[in-house]
Amino acid sequence: MGELCSLPVKYQRRGNLRLDGARRWPAQESRQLRPARLAKGNGTTWAEALPLILAEDSTALVHLPVGKISRTFKNPRGTMNSRRTIIFCAIILVAIFAAFVVWPRAAVTLQDEAPQKKQPTPTIDEYQPKSTLVTKEHKLERAKFPFIDIHSHHWNPTPEEVGRLVKEMDTINLRVMVNLSGGTGEELKKTVAVMKGRYPDRFVVFANMSYDDLNTPGFGKRVAARLEQDVRNGAQGLKIFKNFGMDLKYAGGERVHVDDPEFDAVFEKCAELKIPVLIHVAEPSAFFDPWDYHNERWQELKEFPRRARPPAKYPPFETLMTERNHLFAKHPKTNFIAAHLGFHGNDLERLGKLFESYPNVYVDIAAVLAELGRQPYSAHDFLVKYQDRVLMGKDIYEVNEYKWYFRALETRDEYFEYYRKRHAFWRIYGFQVPDEVLKKVYYKNALKLVPGIDARAFPE
Ligand SMILES: [Zn+2]
Repeated sequence: MGELCSLPVKYQRRGNLRLDGARRWPAQESRQLRPARLAKGNGTTWAEALPLILAEDSTALVHLPVGKISRTFKNPRGTMNSRRTIIFCAIILVAIFAAFVVWPRAAVTLQDEAPQKKQPTPTIDEYQPKSTLVTKEHKLERAKFPFIDIHSHHWNPTPEEVGRLVKEMDTINLRVMVNLSGGTGEELKKTVAVMKGRYPDRFVVFANMSYDDLNTPGFGKRVAARLEQDVRNGAQGLKIFKNFGMDLKYAGGERVHVDDPEFDAVFEKCAELKIPVLIHVAEPSAFFDPWDYHNERWQELKEFPRRARPPAKYPPFETLMTERNHLFAKHPKTNFIAAHLGFHGNDLERLGKLFESYPNVYVDIAAVLAELGRQPYSAHDFLVKYQDRVLMGKDIYEVNEYKWYFRALETRDEYFEYYRKRHAFWRIYGFQVPDEVLKKVYYKNALKLVPGIDARAFPE
């Protein structure tokens, strides 16, 4: 109720909505029409004026709206009935004339309005407005510089898949692909062999932790030892998946916290081996919020209801952030790459503070491009300010989707559609960063963090 205007009750029902849409209230109406002298001017229709003119015995001043025909009639009380008839006829003629002029327009207006009344309201899926915006477009098929994709997933790829991958990578200037899904032990060895074995300078493989023996004492130390072996077998980093901190539980049912001391040995080992940890903690904060019409990721939660993180089953978003930041603080010599802008893409100021607090923290932009693209000015300034901390990544591999990243990073194109509607029902904007920043995001930061990538394939 508070947002509705509060008119006195007697006016609320008597308000007269005219065809031209102007609302006139009774008090105003009587003030305009009641006087004996009636001026036909703005705000009074002929339909309203006619009965009054005819009924009014006193003097009526009528300004006819037809140019020079406009005349003033003086009609004293009780005289010249025949003259009144002439006036009446003249008015009727003018009214007919006016009707002929106005009618076709009114008919068109009614035609325009008619389909709107018949059409049902579309659902959010059905409503696909086509933008009429005409503006410069730069649809880039290739990155301006060779780049490293720090965030990709290829589970147990076959040699044929890898061969195809390399051909596709060449078409978009993707120089080095980091496969975060290397696994551990024999699986990792196989993945390294099939990717790096044939294309040593095109692929990087990260190892993962196995939680099979989580409930056996000494788990953390064993993971650290396995990781050391994986690195010997060709792994160049550790990737931690999102179940860590959320779904992963001890046999007793207790959730493994992101900063669980059991894992300290693993993170210390990463520092010792000088390999980065790419870690996915939590999910977009909207997944932790109620699934209602105010939720920014309503569409995605409708398509994938299991992505919701209701409080009955999951720790709150902020709890996970606190644990994550504690992890960063505990291991200052370990380099962390927080996946997906650390899920602060919707709050770059907060992400900036995170960078200021923890010099060992970096982020990738995988699958969160729409966050940057909806705030091009902030995104540009953020990337310029924190150019040493942000890495190019894509997540789900699809060669035809990288071009959105190129377009956003390299152009100032405006208001273009994003490739995944469930991530963003909004359109995005390019935030074109200077070449020096672009080089850092595309490859220089990754070269600094990931050991063993041949820098000679990249420009200075
Ligand atoms: Zn991923």
